Amino acid sequence: MVDSDPSGPQAPTCSRSPLWLGGLLFVVTLAASFWFVDQMVKFGERVEHHHGLGLARTAAVLVDAREVAALRGRSDDAGTPTHDAVRADLRAVLEANPEFRFVYLMRPVQGRTTQFVFLADGEDPASPDYSAPGDIYDTPSDELRAVAETGQAAFSGLYSDKWGTWVSAMAPIHDDQGRLIAVLGVDMAHEDWLNTQSRYRNFGLTISGLVLALVGLFLIGLYLQRRSAIQMEVLGGRLADQLHALEQAQEGLRLADVVVRNTSESILVLDPQLRVLSVNPAYERLSGRPAADVVGKLPPTLQIDESMAKRVAAAIEAGNHWEEEISGTRVDGTRYPVSAFAEVVRDAAGKVEHFVVVLHDMAAQKELEERLRELSATDGLTHIANRRAFDEALVREWERALRSGGPLSVVMADIDFFKRYNDLYGHIAGDACLQQVAAALKAGVRQGGDLVARYGGEEFVVVLAGADEGAARAVAEALRQRVEALALPHEGNPATGVVTISLGVATCTPVRGREPTTLVEAADKQLYRAKEGGRNRVEAAG
Ligand code: GH3
Ligand code: MG
Ligand code: MG
Repeated sequence: MVDSDPSGPQAPTCSRSPLWLGGLLFVVTLAASFWFVDQMVKFGERVEHHHGLGLARTAAVLVDAREVAALRGRSDDAGTPTHDAVRADLRAVLEANPEFRFVYLMRPVQGRTTQFVFLADGEDPASPDYSAPGDIYDTPSDELRAVAETGQAAFSGLYSDKWGTWVSAMAPIHDDQGRLIAVLGVDMAHEDWLNTQSRYRNFGLTISGLVLALVGLFLIGLYLQRRSAIQMEVLGGRLADQLHALEQAQEGLRLADVVVRNTSESILVLDPQLRVLSVNPAYERLSGRPAADVVGKLPPTLQIDESMAKRVAAAIEAGNHWEEEISGTRVDGTRYPVSAFAEVVRDAAGKVEHFVVVLHDMAAQKELEERLRELSATDGLTHIANRRAFDEALVREWERALRSGGPLSVVMADIDFFKRYNDLYGHIAGDACLQQVAAALKAGVRQGGDLVARYGGEEFVVVLAGADEGAARAVAEALRQRVEALALPHEGNPATGVVTISLGVATCTPVRGREPTTLVEAADKQLYRAKEGGRNRVEAAG
């Protein structure tokens, strides 16, 4: 037997962990992207911060500190050569850097950093944005205050004042003794600053986007790989199922083959043209032909004539099944009766693929039937035909004589003084006597044509087909002599001392309307006459 897994083929299972890991990777990458973009923006701020500080420091160095120290921060500084000289320096700085919007100098008022006073402004005095010397600026940014307090350059992020929104860099200007004498401020348009920041942000976003796209592609690849792995697993499972079914089918086929090879029924497999594809050993034994002699041919031992082929075709058309009693011929020419069954095997499209023919050997059954028939027609004691067989034979021969117009004779015989025989020799001996007389009578008629039967008790009857009165009388006389010649001692038979019989013969030419039994009655009458006449004799009536 094939080992079979009781739980059947396993359903494919698949771990999803790589996909969860992939999702985690994507989330981490997304978080890293945010962080990276933020870092890029901060980096951009730092770069711009240093850049702005550098510009402010450079501008602060370009301005002459002594002249700045000379400015008082009052409106009457305007128009003084010193103020003009400082403004010229500031203008030079402003024009040298297109990104600068304003360049100016301020000083804390009386050392406080909450209020500043303008010393000079690079802006054109005609401009509405111009800050004249002595103008007070009392909304200083924290960075501006820090420069004044620490003496270190500072850079502010975005901030707004009455002139607009800016980013500013501020650098201190010291006198020879290192005292803070002014703060130089440069305001840059915030749009540039924002543009620069957005360039860094965009750079960060682009890099992050690329990385995310790569991770996404990697995850899609991973997903597709997992999906095809699952599909392969499902496919593998299906293949395993099919293999399992195939193994079971093969096992079934193997068993079927064992059955086919060992059954006593003959089996033939035919193609749609009724040519033999295979036969089993039982068929070889039944037909006396080896498989090699019949394969590829019409079944040679079956009488498949045209009418049978039509019957088979009609039966198959009606119900895929044909059943009939037919006879086959063995290789030695002897015939055998078989009960044939044919089943049609069709393909999925309904086309006939094979015929499977099973032949059941009827010989044994026929033999049995024959034996039963014989038994039912035979007398158990004497083994000659019994009364039933006689009745049938009489009617049969009567009909035949009717057709032929020939004569028919019946002889009735009865053992003389048989009661006495039984009394003298016993019933067993009486039976033996009956058997010997029956055998003698049977041997005294034409074998195969005439019929001797036990009519009842110690009476016998003979049907002589075609015998006229003379022939019948002769047969009867011959029978009488045969029995006498047996010389079976019979002390009770005063005339001969042996067993004898008396016979009555009746002959007629049957005609319609007359019953066969009348012939028997007539013979019986003659028998009576024979008895009356002294026994051991034949009497006949024409
Ligand atoms: P008859 O010459 O007039 O025929 O005299 P019979 O004694 O033969 O007269 P009957 O026909 O009346 O007697 C028949 C006897 O046959 C009676 C019976 O005992 C005997 N008998 C009938 N059947 C059997 C049988 O099967 N076995 C034996 N042993 N005897 C039988
Ligand atoms: Mg009698
Ligand atoms: Mg008798």
